[in-house]
Amino acid sequence: MTHQPVTMHAFVDGKHLETEDSITRENPANPEEIVGYAPLNTIDDTRHAVDVADQAFQKWRHTEISDRVERMKRAISKLRESQEEITGLLSREHGKPVYDANGEMEISIMWMEHACSMAEDLLKDEVKNTEDGQTIIAKDPIGVVSAISPWNYPIALSTIKVAPALLAGNTIIVKPSPLAPLAVQKVLEIIASEFPAGVLNSLNGEADIGVELTSNEKVSKIAFTGGTATGRKIMESAADTIKELTLELGGNDPALILPSFDPNDEKAMRRLVISNFVTAGEICMIAKRIYVPQSMHDEFVEKYKEAADKWIRVGDPSDENVTLGPVNNKEQVEFVQELVDDAKANGAEVTKLGKIMDEELFDQGYYMQPTLVTGVNHDSRIVGEEQFGPTIPIVAYEDVDEGVDLCNDSIFGLTSSVWGEEEEALQVARRIEAGTTMINTAAIQGLDVRYAFGGVKQSGLGREYGEEGLTSYVNTHVINNPNEKDLPFIPE
Ligand code: NAD
Repeated sequence: MTHQPVTMHAFVDGKHLETEDSITRENPANPEEIVGYAPLNTIDDTRHAVDVADQAFQKWRHTEISDRVERMKRAISKLRESQEEITGLLSREHGKPVYDANGEMEISIMWMEHACSMAEDLLKDEVKNTEDGQTIIAKDPIGVVSAISPWNYPIALSTIKVAPALLAGNTIIVKPSPLAPLAVQKVLEIIASEFPAGVLNSLNGEADIGVELTSNEKVSKIAFTGGTATGRKIMESAADTIKELTLELGGNDPALILPSFDPNDEKAMRRLVISNFVTAGEICMIAKRIYVPQSMHDEFVEKYKEAADKWIRVGDPSDENVTLGPVNNKEQVEFVQELVDDAKANGAEVTKLGKIMDEELFDQGYYMQPTLVTGVNHDSRIVGEEQFGPTIPIVAYEDVDEGVDLCNDSIFGLTSSVWGEEEEALQVARRIEAGTTMINTAAIQGLDVRYAFGGVKQSGLGREYGEEGLTSYVNTHVINNPNEKDLPFIPE
């Protein structure tokens, strides 16, 4: 089925912004097909958006929490009505299969609903009356929020910021990635239609407007998801005016297979394979390196290949039988291939996994057949760097202590997983340095939006999801009214 290209606009103050230049987004499965156009905003547009958001904040900050919740719930209903259109567009511009695009929408809505359900309780004043007097603990909105998101999960990683920011009484400007700007723009417009003009604004473009959004003095908080290198630059941009920061950065998540793991457990092996390759490996929180006991290595590899060959069907993202689409962009294919080639040049064995459904399509798009890399050691690039694509290295270890050390020997600490007998896995999990550790599962299967998500070490600062994912959008403001007004500890 052919689709007409869509044209998306940035919007500020409830109005579309006209731009001279635009970003052309091609279909990664067929780069000759244009999926649509997104605006290429300028630094002037960005300053205008910040001014507008700052103005809107003066009123919006005083609105009732119940009013904000009602608006958000109406926005969620509208998103449901347009879900099929949005997920189709996301699949075409991103390359992820429709089931996967739909999963992204479901997670987005799950979080938006959960944030609504927590808002009244977590954002209302706490009043403490004691014999010493009264203290009110108010939750003040922070101000103008700049939200910057990456291409791999554009809708979920934008709404994860928009919902709590608006519920808490902030105004926001969202800048998605130019590599998947279309479906998220549609989502943002739908949400904005339920809020007063200027409360939710959206811009599109490259790093230059990101720099303005993270340095402009009227911006009070930055909520960023993306690579660790960009996160470092954002910390520098934010330093001059000491902005609040939530940084969700890169991950190189280990999967530690314990000696008690049964390689013949087909269900567990299937979960592991999915956790390595879903969304063609382009997720921050998927297992990106596997550590296996030396004594189990060969059997494990054999069973892993069997499970991968069953589940991986690479092809047209609109085909229901396909489990993996193309990689989102050519640069990413080249980077992942570079890591695989480097491993091979250093003596690793590279095995192709799964089935290619249509060779012709495969050759025309940004496709990459998933690979398993064995015979590598922990020091190789493919193990130490975040590949963010369809390849997975397996490294052998001698004993569990060494396995744990290898997992922790990384600048990253986003998620992780431990696989084996449950009690033992729970014990070992406590020794892993990460924001989340999952037991006998990994990636999306182990995510629960009711609990905080985020990284340690260079995987980030702060948390999204859970209560912290909402309360990180307010400043605690303590209003103290003590009975005894005289200063203590001061001599007469
Ligand atoms: P990226 O850092 O290249 O870009 C992310 C966003 O930042 C884009 O919108 C980009 O235009 C913008 N940007 C680029 N330079 C900027 C600058 N100097 N100032 C402000 N904004 C700037 O990341 P990407 O390639 O889009 O996404 C992949 C990375 O994101 C991976 O490392 C992945 O692990 C990470 N990620 C992390 C999480 C998490 O929750 N921790 C989730 C998804 C992706």
